[in-house]
Amino acid sequence: MLIGSPRERLEGEARVAMTPDSAIQLQKLGYQCAIETGAGKLAGFSDDAYRAAGVTVVDTAETLFASADVITKVRPPSSDEVSALSQGKTLISFFYPAQNKDLLDQAGATGANLIAMDMVPRISRAQKMDALSSMANIAGYRAVIEAGNNFGRFFTGQVTAAGKIPPAKVLVIGAGVAGLAAVGTSISLGAITYAFDVRPEVAEQIESMGAQFVFLDFEEQQQDGAATGGYAAPSSPKFREAQLKKFREIAPDIDIVITTALIPGRDAPKLWLADMVAAMKPGSVIVDLAAERGGNCDLTVAGERIVSDNGVAVIGYTDFPSRMAAQSSTLYATNIRHMMTDLTLKKDGVIVHNMEDDVIRGATVALKGEITYPPPPPKIR
Ligand code: NAD
Repeated sequence: MLIGSPRERLEGEARVAMTPDSAIQLQKLGYQCAIETGAGKLAGFSDDAYRAAGVTVVDTAETLFASADVITKVRPPSSDEVSALSQGKTLISFFYPAQNKDLLDQAGATGANLIAMDMVPRISRAQKMDALSSMANIAGYRAVIEAGNNFGRFFTGQVTAAGKIPPAKVLVIGAGVAGLAAVGTSISLGAITYAFDVRPEVAEQIESMGAQFVFLDFEEQQQDGAATGGYAAPSSPKFREAQLKKFREIAPDIDIVITTALIPGRDAPKLWLADMVAAMKPGSVIVDLAAERGGNCDLTVAGERIVSDNGVAVIGYTDFPSRMAAQSSTLYATNIRHMMTDLTLKKDGVIVHNMEDDVIRGATVALKGEITYPPPPPKIR
Protein backbone atom coordinates (compact mmCIF):
# COMPACT_ATOMS: atom_id res chain seq x y z
CA MET A 1 0.00 0.00 0.00
CA LEU A 2 1.01 3.62 -0.52
CA ILE A 3 1.16 6.14 2.32
CA GLY A 4 1.11 9.79 1.27
CA SER A 5 1.22 13.18 2.97
CA PRO A 6 -0.07 16.36 1.33
CA ARG A 7 1.12 19.89 2.02
CA GLU A 8 -0.93 21.43 4.84
CA ARG A 9 -3.26 24.05 3.37
CA LEU A 10 -4.21 25.97 6.53
CA GLU A 11 -2.51 29.36 6.46
CA GLY A 12 0.43 29.55 8.85
CA GLU A 13 0.64 25.77 9.33
CA ALA A 14 4.27 24.79 8.83
CA ARG A 15 4.17 21.19 10.05
CA VAL A 16 4.20 18.07 7.89
CA ALA A 17 2.99 14.59 8.84
CA MET A 18 5.82 12.61 7.20
CA THR A 19 9.55 13.28 7.47
CA PRO A 20 12.33 11.55 5.53
CA ASP A 21 13.20 9.60 8.70
CA SER A 22 9.63 8.50 9.37
CA ALA A 23 9.30 7.47 5.71
CA ILE A 24 12.29 5.15 6.08
CA GLN A 25 10.57 3.50 9.05
CA LEU A 26 7.25 3.25 7.19
CA GLN A 27 9.00 1.49 4.32
CA LYS A 28 10.33 -1.07 6.81
CA LEU A 29 6.66 -1.86 7.54
CA GLY A 30 6.26 -2.75 3.87
CA TYR A 31 4.70 0.52 2.65
CA GLN A 32 5.66 2.76 -0.25
CA CYS A 33 5.71 6.47 0.57
CA ALA A 34 4.73 9.60 -1.33
CA ILE A 35 4.75 13.31 -0.49
CA GLU A 36 3.30 16.34 -2.23
CA THR A 37 6.04 18.60 -3.54
CA GLY A 38 6.99 21.29 -1.02
CA ALA A 39 5.06 19.65 1.84
CA GLY A 40 8.11 19.61 4.11
CA LYS A 41 9.66 22.89 3.07
CA LEU A 42 8.49 25.06 5.98
CA ALA A 43 9.62 22.40 8.42
CA GLY A 44 13.07 22.20 6.80
CA PHE A 45 12.63 18.98 4.78
CA SER A 46 13.33 19.42 1.06
CA ASP A 47 11.88 17.32 -1.75
CA ASP A 48 15.40 16.01 -2.34
CA ALA A 49 15.69 14.84 1.26
CA TYR A 50 12.46 12.86 0.79
CA ARG A 51 13.68 11.43 -2.52
CA ALA A 52 16.91 10.33 -0.84
CA ALA A 53 14.76 8.48 1.70
CA GLY A 54 13.00 6.60 -1.06
CA VAL A 55 9.85 8.74 -1.13
CA THR A 56 8.07 9.57 -4.39
CA VAL A 57 7.47 13.32 -4.73
CA VAL A 58 4.18 14.06 -6.51
CA ASP A 59 3.17 17.37 -8.07
CA THR A 60 -0.31 17.92 -6.74
CA ALA A 61 -2.52 17.10 -3.77
CA GLU A 62 -5.05 15.62 -6.22
CA THR A 63 -2.53 13.05 -7.46
CA LEU A 64 -1.51 12.27 -3.92
CA PHE A 65 -5.07 11.75 -2.65
CA ALA A 66 -5.97 9.71 -5.74
CA SER A 67 -2.99 7.35 -5.48
CA ALA A 68 -2.47 6.93 -1.71
CA ASP A 69 -4.22 4.20 0.28
CA VAL A 70 -3.29 5.89 3.57
CA ILE A 71 -3.17 9.69 3.81
CA THR A 72 -1.41 11.20 6.81
CA LYS A 73 -1.96 14.86 7.70
CA VAL A 74 -1.55 17.21 10.63
CA ARG A 75 -4.67 19.39 10.56
CA PRO A 76 -8.22 18.06 10.18
CA PRO A 77 -9.08 17.68 6.50
CA SER A 78 -10.75 20.50 4.58
CA SER A 79 -14.02 19.79 2.76
CA ASP A 80 -12.04 19.49 -0.48
CA GLU A 81 -9.71 16.95 1.08
CA VAL A 82 -12.67 15.00 2.43
CA SER A 83 -14.25 14.83 -1.01
CA ALA A 84 -11.06 13.22 -2.31
CA LEU A 85 -11.55 10.27 0.09
CA SER A 86 -13.31 7.03 -0.80
CA GLN A 87 -13.95 3.50 0.41
CA GLY A 88 -10.72 1.62 1.06
CA LYS A 89 -8.70 4.76 1.90
CA THR A 90 -7.62 5.66 5.44
CA LEU A 91 -7.02 9.20 6.64
CA ILE A 92 -4.90 9.74 9.76
CA SER A 93 -4.81 13.29 11.21
CA PHE A 94 -5.92 15.42 14.12
CA PHE A 95 -9.71 15.49 13.72
CA TYR A 96 -11.39 16.68 16.98
CA PRO A 97 -14.59 14.77 16.18
CA ALA A 98 -16.59 16.38 19.01
CA GLN A 99 -16.01 19.84 17.54
CA ASN A 100 -16.23 18.70 13.89
CA LYS A 101 -19.43 16.65 13.78
CA ASP A 102 -20.44 17.78 10.25
CA LEU A 103 -16.98 17.09 8.89
CA LEU A 104 -17.05 13.66 10.51
CA ASP A 105 -20.41 12.85 8.89
CA GLN A 106 -19.17 14.11 5.54
CA ALA A 107 -15.95 12.09 5.79
CA GLY A 108 -17.77 8.99 7.09
CA ALA A 109 -20.17 9.12 4.12
CA THR A 110 -17.26 8.65 1.70
CA GLY A 111 -16.77 5.15 3.11
CA ALA A 112 -13.17 5.96 4.09
CA ASN A 113 -11.62 5.01 7.43
CA LEU A 114 -10.63 7.87 9.76
CA ILE A 115 -8.13 7.77 12.57
CA ALA A 116 -8.08 10.83 14.83
CA MET A 117 -4.70 11.34 16.48
CA ASP A 118 -6.41 13.46 19.16
CA MET A 119 -8.50 10.43 20.16
CA VAL A 120 -5.57 8.14 21.02
CA PRO A 121 -6.36 6.95 24.57
CA ARG A 122 -3.98 8.45 27.11
CA ILE A 123 -2.77 5.18 28.55
CA SER A 124 0.84 4.08 29.05
CA ARG A 125 0.86 1.69 26.08
CA ALA A 126 -0.23 4.49 23.73
CA GLN A 127 2.28 7.12 24.86
CA LYS A 128 4.40 6.61 21.74
CA MET A 129 1.42 7.67 19.60
CA ASP A 130 0.18 10.44 21.92
CA ALA A 131 0.45 13.37 19.54
CA LEU A 132 -1.51 15.66 21.89
CA SER A 133 1.27 15.22 24.45
CA SER A 134 4.04 15.66 21.87
CA MET A 135 2.52 18.94 20.73
CA ALA A 136 1.70 20.12 24.28
CA ASN A 137 5.32 19.51 25.29
CA ILE A 138 6.50 21.75 22.45
CA ALA A 139 3.87 24.40 23.22
CA GLY A 140 4.96 24.54 26.87
CA TYR A 141 8.62 24.93 25.94
CA ARG A 142 7.94 27.49 23.24
CA ALA A 143 5.61 29.51 25.52
CA VAL A 144 8.55 30.19 27.82
CA ILE A 145 10.86 31.04 24.92
CA GLU A 146 8.21 33.41 23.53
CA ALA A 147 7.82 34.98 26.97
CA GLY A 148 11.58 35.49 27.13
CA ASN A 149 11.52 37.13 23.73
CA ASN A 150 8.97 39.64 25.02
CA PHE A 151 10.55 40.16 28.43
CA GLY A 152 13.18 42.85 28.59
CA ARG A 153 15.21 41.21 31.33
CA PHE A 154 17.19 38.08 32.18
CA PHE A 155 15.46 34.98 33.51
CA THR A 156 18.37 34.07 35.72
CA GLY A 157 19.71 36.30 38.49
CA GLN A 158 23.21 37.65 38.00
CA VAL A 159 25.78 39.56 39.94
CA THR A 160 27.62 41.75 37.45
CA ALA A 161 30.07 44.62 37.69
CA ALA A 162 27.19 46.85 36.62
CA GLY A 163 24.93 45.70 39.41
CA LYS A 164 22.95 42.83 40.87
CA ILE A 165 20.10 41.48 38.76
CA PRO A 166 17.28 39.60 40.45
CA PRO A 167 15.95 36.41 38.81
CA ALA A 168 12.61 36.59 37.00
CA LYS A 169 9.60 35.09 38.73
CA VAL A 170 7.51 32.82 36.55
CA LEU A 171 4.10 31.38 37.44
CA VAL A 172 2.75 28.42 35.48
CA ILE A 173 -0.99 27.82 35.92
CA GLY A 174 -2.05 24.30 34.98
CA ALA A 175 0.56 21.57 35.27
CA GLY A 176 -0.50 19.06 32.61
CA VAL A 177 1.87 18.13 29.81
CA ALA A 178 2.33 21.71 28.50
CA GLY A 179 2.56 23.20 32.00
CA LEU A 180 5.23 20.75 33.13
CA ALA A 181 7.25 21.46 29.98
CA ALA A 182 6.96 25.18 30.74
CA VAL A 183 8.07 24.60 34.34
CA GLY A 184 11.09 22.61 33.16
CA THR A 185 12.08 25.24 30.60
CA SER A 186 11.64 28.12 33.02
CA ILE A 187 13.78 26.40 35.65
CA SER A 188 16.47 25.58 33.11
CA LEU A 189 16.66 29.28 32.20
CA GLY A 190 17.19 30.12 35.85
CA ALA A 191 13.89 31.77 36.80
CA ILE A 192 12.26 31.33 40.19
CA THR A 193 9.35 29.18 39.10
CA TYR A 194 5.97 28.66 40.74
CA ALA A 195 3.22 26.39 39.52
CA PHE A 196 -0.38 25.75 40.39
CA ASP A 197 -2.88 23.05 39.44
CA VAL A 198 -6.21 21.90 40.80
CA ARG A 199 -4.92 18.32 40.83
CA PRO A 200 -3.06 17.71 44.09
CA GLU A 201 -1.00 14.84 42.70
CA VAL A 202 1.18 17.20 40.66
CA ALA A 203 2.50 19.16 43.68
CA GLU A 204 5.21 16.60 44.37
CA GLN A 205 6.21 16.41 40.71
CA ILE A 206 6.51 20.20 40.50
CA GLU A 207 8.62 20.37 43.64
CA SER A 208 10.86 17.54 42.45
CA MET A 209 11.59 19.63 39.34
CA GLY A 210 12.80 22.49 41.52
CA ALA A 211 9.70 24.71 41.27
CA GLN A 212 7.42 25.75 44.10
CA PHE A 213 3.81 24.61 44.22
CA VAL A 214 1.41 27.40 45.09
CA PHE A 215 -0.75 26.18 47.95
CA LEU A 216 -4.10 27.78 48.73
CA ASP A 217 -5.59 28.70 52.07
CA PHE A 218 -8.42 26.28 51.48
CA GLU A 219 -9.20 23.31 53.63
CA GLU A 220 -9.96 20.78 50.88
CA GLN A 221 -6.97 22.20 48.94
CA GLN A 222 -7.39 20.65 45.51
CA GLN A 223 -9.64 18.29 43.63
CA ASP A 224 -8.98 14.62 43.53
CA GLY A 225 -7.70 14.16 39.97
CA ALA A 226 -7.95 10.40 40.28
CA ALA A 227 -11.73 10.78 40.46
CA THR A 228 -11.82 12.42 37.03
CA GLY A 229 -9.44 10.11 35.17
CA GLY A 230 -6.45 12.42 35.60
CA TYR A 231 -8.27 15.39 34.07
CA ALA A 232 -9.56 18.45 35.88
CA ALA A 233 -13.23 19.12 36.58
CA PRO A 234 -14.63 22.64 37.11
CA SER A 235 -13.71 24.06 40.51
CA SER A 236 -16.32 24.74 43.20
CA PRO A 237 -17.14 28.46 43.71
CA LYS A 238 -15.32 28.41 47.07
CA PHE A 239 -12.23 26.81 45.61
CA ARG A 240 -12.23 29.29 42.76
CA GLU A 241 -12.54 32.16 45.22
CA ALA A 242 -9.51 30.89 47.16
CA GLN A 243 -7.55 30.42 43.93
CA LEU A 244 -8.30 33.94 42.66
CA LYS A 245 -7.47 35.42 46.08
CA LYS A 246 -4.05 33.76 45.98
CA PHE A 247 -3.39 34.91 42.40
CA ARG A 248 -4.38 38.48 43.34
CA GLU A 249 -1.94 38.36 46.23
CA ILE A 250 1.02 37.25 44.11
CA ALA A 251 0.28 39.13 40.84
CA PRO A 252 2.37 42.25 41.68
CA ASP A 253 5.42 40.08 42.29
CA ILE A 254 5.21 37.83 39.19
CA ASP A 255 7.02 38.80 35.98
CA ILE A 256 5.78 36.08 33.64
CA VAL A 257 2.59 34.05 33.73
CA ILE A 258 2.16 30.99 31.51
CA THR A 259 -1.41 29.70 31.61
CA THR A 260 -2.33 26.22 30.35
CA ALA A 261 -5.46 25.38 32.37
CA LEU A 262 -8.06 23.34 30.50
CA ILE A 263 -11.08 21.26 31.43
CA PRO A 264 -12.12 18.63 28.86
CA GLY A 265 -15.20 19.60 26.86
CA ARG A 266 -15.49 23.15 28.28
CA ASP A 267 -14.27 26.63 27.60
CA ALA A 268 -11.00 27.43 29.35
CA PRO A 269 -11.58 28.71 32.92
CA LYS A 270 -10.85 32.42 33.40
CA LEU A 271 -8.14 32.49 36.05
CA TRP A 272 -5.95 35.53 35.40
CA LEU A 273 -8.43 38.38 35.57
CA ALA A 274 -8.15 41.96 34.32
CA ASP A 275 -7.37 43.33 37.81
CA MET A 276 -4.47 40.85 38.14
CA VAL A 277 -3.02 42.03 34.83
CA ALA A 278 -3.43 45.63 36.06
CA ALA A 279 -1.53 44.74 39.25
CA MET A 280 1.50 43.38 37.34
CA LYS A 281 4.61 45.46 36.71
CA PRO A 282 5.05 47.10 33.26
CA GLY A 283 7.15 44.85 31.03
CA SER A 284 5.63 41.69 32.47
CA VAL A 285 4.42 39.01 30.07
CA ILE A 286 1.47 36.62 29.98
CA VAL A 287 1.45 33.70 27.54
CA ASP A 288 -1.98 32.09 27.36
CA LEU A 289 -1.77 28.56 25.94
CA ALA A 290 -5.52 28.18 26.45
CA ALA A 291 -6.22 30.99 23.94
CA GLU A 292 -7.82 28.70 21.35
CA ARG A 293 -10.41 27.58 23.92
CA GLY A 294 -11.26 31.13 25.03
CA GLY A 295 -8.18 31.84 27.14
CA ASN A 296 -7.35 31.72 30.86
CA CYS A 297 -6.66 35.45 30.92
CA ASP A 298 -9.41 38.07 30.59
CA LEU A 299 -7.36 40.11 28.10
CA THR A 300 -6.27 37.31 25.76
CA VAL A 301 -7.07 37.69 22.07
CA ALA A 302 -6.64 34.35 20.26
CA GLY A 303 -3.85 34.48 17.68
CA GLU A 304 -2.59 37.90 18.80
CA ARG A 305 -0.17 39.73 21.04
CA ILE A 306 -1.68 42.72 22.75
CA VAL A 307 -0.24 45.11 25.33
CA SER A 308 -2.38 46.18 28.31
CA ASP A 309 -2.73 49.80 29.42
CA ASN A 310 -0.11 49.22 32.10
CA GLY A 311 2.40 47.72 29.65
CA VAL A 312 1.88 43.97 30.13
CA ALA A 313 2.23 41.88 26.94
CA VAL A 314 -0.55 39.30 26.62
CA ILE A 315 0.27 36.63 24.03
CA GLY A 316 -2.55 34.48 22.69
CA TYR A 317 -0.82 32.73 19.79
CA THR A 318 -2.46 29.44 18.93
CA ASP A 319 0.28 28.00 16.73
CA PHE A 320 3.15 27.27 19.11
CA PRO A 321 3.94 23.78 17.73
CA SER A 322 3.93 25.17 14.18
CA ARG A 323 6.44 27.83 15.29
CA MET A 324 8.86 24.94 15.90
CA ALA A 325 7.88 23.02 12.79
CA ALA A 326 11.06 20.97 12.43
CA GLN A 327 10.71 19.61 15.97
CA SER A 328 6.95 19.21 15.96
CA SER A 329 6.92 17.51 12.54
CA THR A 330 9.58 15.08 13.71
CA LEU A 331 7.63 14.14 16.82
CA TYR A 332 4.25 14.05 15.08
CA ALA A 333 5.59 11.92 12.21
CA THR A 334 7.05 9.54 14.79
CA ASN A 335 3.67 9.33 16.57
CA ILE A 336 2.05 8.49 13.21
CA ARG A 337 4.73 5.92 12.44
CA HIS A 338 4.03 4.17 15.77
CA MET A 339 0.31 4.20 14.98
CA MET A 340 1.10 2.60 11.61
CA THR A 341 3.24 -0.03 13.34
CA ASP A 342 0.25 -1.08 15.44
CA LEU A 343 -1.95 -1.04 12.33
CA THR A 344 0.53 -3.26 10.44
CA LEU A 345 1.47 -6.03 12.86
CA LYS A 346 2.52 -8.35 10.02
CA LYS A 347 4.85 -5.67 8.56
CA ASP A 348 3.46 -6.55 5.12
CA GLY A 349 2.47 -3.07 3.99
CA VAL A 350 -1.24 -3.73 4.53
CA ILE A 351 -3.23 -1.73 7.08
CA VAL A 352 -5.47 -3.77 9.41
CA HIS A 353 -8.00 -1.96 11.60
CA ASN A 354 -8.19 -4.30 14.58
CA MET A 355 -11.11 -2.85 16.50
CA GLU A 356 -10.40 -5.25 19.40
CA ASP A 357 -7.28 -3.20 20.12
CA ASP A 358 -8.25 -0.47 22.64
CA VAL A 359 -5.90 2.11 21.17
CA ILE A 360 -6.97 1.56 17.55
CA ARG A 361 -10.61 1.39 18.62
CA GLY A 362 -10.34 4.65 20.56
CA ALA A 363 -8.68 6.54 17.73
CA THR A 364 -10.87 5.21 14.90
CA VAL A 365 -13.74 7.62 14.39
CA ALA A 366 -15.09 6.15 11.13
CA LEU A 367 -14.69 2.71 9.57
CA LYS A 368 -16.00 1.69 6.14
CA GLY A 369 -18.74 4.31 6.17
CA GLU A 370 -19.78 3.75 9.79
CA ILE A 371 -19.19 6.50 12.36
CA THR A 372 -17.43 4.84 15.29
CA TYR A 373 -17.15 7.94 17.47
CA PRO A 374 -17.50 8.14 20.41
CA PRO A 375 -15.76 4.91 21.38
CA PRO A 376 -17.27 2.73 24.12
CA PRO A 377 -15.97 3.42 27.65
CA PRO A 378 -12.65 1.66 28.37
CA LYS A 379 -12.98 -1.90 29.63
CA ILE A 380 -12.36 -2.41 33.34
CA ARG A 381 -9.59 -4.94 33.71
P1 NAD B 1 -5.08 19.56 29.90
O1 NAD B 1 -4.42 20.18 28.74
O2 NAD B 1 -6.46 19.00 29.76
O3 NAD B 1 -5.15 20.63 31.11
C1 NAD B 1 -3.99 21.30 31.54
C2 NAD B 1 -3.94 21.36 33.04
O4 NAD B 1 -4.84 22.36 33.52
C3 NAD B 1 -4.33 20.08 33.77
O5 NAD B 1 -3.22 19.66 34.54
C4 NAD B 1 -5.50 20.52 34.63
O6 NAD B 1 -5.53 19.84 35.88
C5 NAD B 1 -5.24 21.98 34.81
N1 NAD B 1 -6.37 22.80 35.26
C6 NAD B 1 -7.69 22.73 34.92
N2 NAD B 1 -8.40 23.68 35.57
C7 NAD B 1 -7.53 24.37 36.34
C8 NAD B 1 -7.65 25.45 37.23
N3 NAD B 1 -8.82 26.01 37.51
N4 NAD B 1 -6.53 25.91 37.84
C9 NAD B 1 -5.33 25.34 37.59
N5 NAD B 1 -5.14 24.31 36.76
C10 NAD B 1 -6.24 23.82 36.14
O7 NAD B 1 -4.13 18.47 30.54
P2 NAD B 1 -3.18 17.45 29.80
O8 NAD B 1 -1.85 18.03 29.62
O9 NAD B 1 -3.90 16.93 28.62
O10 NAD B 1 -3.06 16.32 30.91
C11 NAD B 1 -4.22 15.87 31.62
C12 NAD B 1 -3.91 14.61 32.42
O11 NAD B 1 -3.64 13.51 31.54
C13 NAD B 1 -2.70 14.71 33.32
O12 NAD B 1 -2.99 13.98 34.48
C14 NAD B 1 -1.64 14.02 32.55
O13 NAD B 1 -0.59 13.55 33.37
C15 NAD B 1 -2.43 12.91 31.95
N6 NAD B 1 -1.78 12.36 30.77
C16 NAD B 1 -1.52 11.02 30.72
C17 NAD B 1 -0.90 10.47 29.62
C18 NAD B 1 -0.61 9.01 29.52
O14 NAD B 1 -0.69 8.29 30.48
N7 NAD B 1 -0.31 8.52 28.34
C19 NAD B 1 -0.54 11.28 28.57
C20 NAD B 1 -0.81 12.64 28.64
C21 NAD B 1 -1.46 13.16 29.74
